[in-house]
Amino acid sequence: GAERTKNVLILMSDTGGGHRASAEAIRDAFKLELGDEYRIIIKDVWKEYTGWPLNNMERQYKFMVKHVQLWNVAFHSTSPRWIHSLYLAAIAAYYAKYIFFFPHHLHSKTYRYFWEVEAGLMEYKPDIIISVHPLMQHIPLWVLKWQGLQKKVIFVTVITDLNTCHRTWFHPGVNRCYCPSEEVAKRALLDGLEESQVRVFGLPIRPSFCRAVLSKDDLRVELEMDPTLPAVLLMGGGEGMGPVKKTAKALGESLFDEELGKPIGQLIIICGRNKALASTLELLEWKIPVKVRGFETQMEKWMGACDCIITKAGPGTIAEALIRGLPIILNDFIPGQEKGNVPYVVDNGAGVFTRSAKETARIVAEWFSMKTDELRRMSENAKKLAQPNAVFDIVKDIHELACQRGPLANIPYMLTSSFSSLI
Ligand code: UDP
Repeated sequence: GAERTKNVLILMSDTGGGHRASAEAIRDAFKLELGDEYRIIIKDVWKEYTGWPLNNMERQYKFMVKHVQLWNVAFHSTSPRWIHSLYLAAIAAYYAKYIFFFPHHLHSKTYRYFWEVEAGLMEYKPDIIISVHPLMQHIPLWVLKWQGLQKKVIFVTVITDLNTCHRTWFHPGVNRCYCPSEEVAKRALLDGLEESQVRVFGLPIRPSFCRAVLSKDDLRVELEMDPTLPAVLLMGGGEGMGPVKKTAKALGESLFDEELGKPIGQLIIICGRNKALASTLELLEWKIPVKVRGFETQMEKWMGACDCIITKAGPGTIAEALIRGLPIILNDFIPGQEKGNVPYVVDNGAGVFTRSAKETARIVAEWFSMKTDELRRMSENAKKLAQPNAVFDIVKDIHELACQRGPLANIPYMLTSSFSSLI
C-alpha cells in the first residue's frame, strides 16, 4: 500500500551485553517478520544525549558490579516508587532550572539532557518507542506528554530481567509491558499495571539463535575445536565478569585424566570486553585443549558447539543457553536483578549453582565421565524451559498495536514544548 514506513526507536544502554542483545533481537525479528514496513533505530540514548550523571551509566555499572555490596544497597534502596521517582524528578528539575537560567548552555555538551532526549525523538520521529532498559520509561514518557504525543506514539517496555527486576521497569503510562516470566508479570500487576498492558512471551533472543539449524560437528570444524572431546563453555556476560580465571584454572586440572595421561574434555573461554582477562588467560599453559576468545558476535555458534556452560546468572546468557539445550552451572550473580535467575535455572532442573571454582570443575568432570545421564537430563529440562519464539511474539504484538491505530499520520514532533518554550 501507500502507507509510509513506520519508525521504531529502541532505547537501550550498553551496560553489560544483555540490553544490546535484546535490542538487536527485536530489530532482527522486525526485519524477518515485517520487512520494509518498519525502520528500526537502536539508540544508546544515555550515552549520546545526556549529560552527567546518566552518561556515566556504563562506567557506573562497571564500578558497581565490581563493588557488589554498593550495587546491592543501590538496587534495594531505590526500589520504593517515591524514591526513584524523586531521584529522576530531581535530575529533571536540575536540568530544567539550569537550562532556564543558562539558555546559552543549551548547546554545551554537558547540559543538554531533556532538550536532547526531545531532540532525539524529533530526529527520528518514532511512531513506536521500545524501551529495553529499566531507566528509560519515565523520561521519554514525560517528553511525549509535554509534546502532547502520548496518544499518538506507541510506547512499550520489554523487560530483560527474568525474575527479581527493579521497579523502575514498571510504568503505568505504557501501551504494553512485555514480561519474560509469570513471576515478573505478577510484579507488574502488583505495581499497578493493568492486565491489558501486560503480556508474557519470554525474553527476546536474537533470531540467529532460534532459527539456526547447525550441526555440532560442522560447528566444531568451523571453530577449529576438537571434534570428539566434550566441551565446556566458560563466560561472564558481555563484560567477562565473575570468577572466570579461577574456574578456568580448576577446569584445566579436573578435565585432565592423570592416570590415562590425556584430557577428558575441552574448554572454551569467552571473555567478552574484558581484555585484561583474555590476555592473562592466553599466557597460561594448559594440559587440555583451550580456546580463549574476546567479544564474540556469533554466540549461537559457540554455544551450539559446546555441551554445557558456566556463567554468571545473566538473563541473556541463560535464555540463550536454554535454547541451545546447554546445562548451566551458575557461578555468580549481580545482587538484585540477577538473584532470582538462580532458582529459575536450578528449580527447573536445568543447572546448578555454586560459587566454588573447585566444585564447578568437579561437576563438569563428572558430567563428562560418569554422569553423562545427568548431563542429558538437564539438557532436556533446559530445552523445555526455552522460549525461542518470544521475540517474534513480541514483534507481532507490537505490529498488531500499530495496526489498531490505523494508518499513521505524520507525527507532529515539535521543539515547542518543555524547555524551548521557556526560553
Ligand atoms: N555476549 C556476546 N558476546 C560475548 C559475550 C557476551 O554477544 O563475547 C552476549 C551474550 O550472548 C548475551 C549478552 O551478551 O546475549 C550477555 O547478557 P547477560 O544478560 O547474560 O549479561 P550482561 O552482560 O548483560 O550482564
